[in-house]
Amino acid sequence: MADRLELVGQRYGRLLVLREGPRVSADAGRPNGRRTLVCLCDCGRILAVRLSNLRSGHARSCGCARIAALVARNKAGSRRDMALSR
Ligand SMILES: [Zn+2]
Repeated sequence: MADRLELVGQRYGRLLVLREGPRVSADAGRPNGRRTLVCLCDCGRILAVRLSNLRSGHARSCGCARIAALVARNKAGSRRDMALSR
């Protein structure tokens, strides 16, 4: 079990864990709420991510990775898609 100190400084995809974030509102069965971590994305954006999403690999960026993947695909494919996105 990793405690909060071990998590700070960890990197998950493009996300670097800066510090522990606020707990998000509790579910019925989880009176303490879910832990979040404040992360810095490689693009410079700071966001709070659920610990469970980091651990499971669902959260790897603030969302810019998906955009970058789309841009790369468009570059490989037709140029029309890029023009339409602007
Ligand atoms: Zn980002």
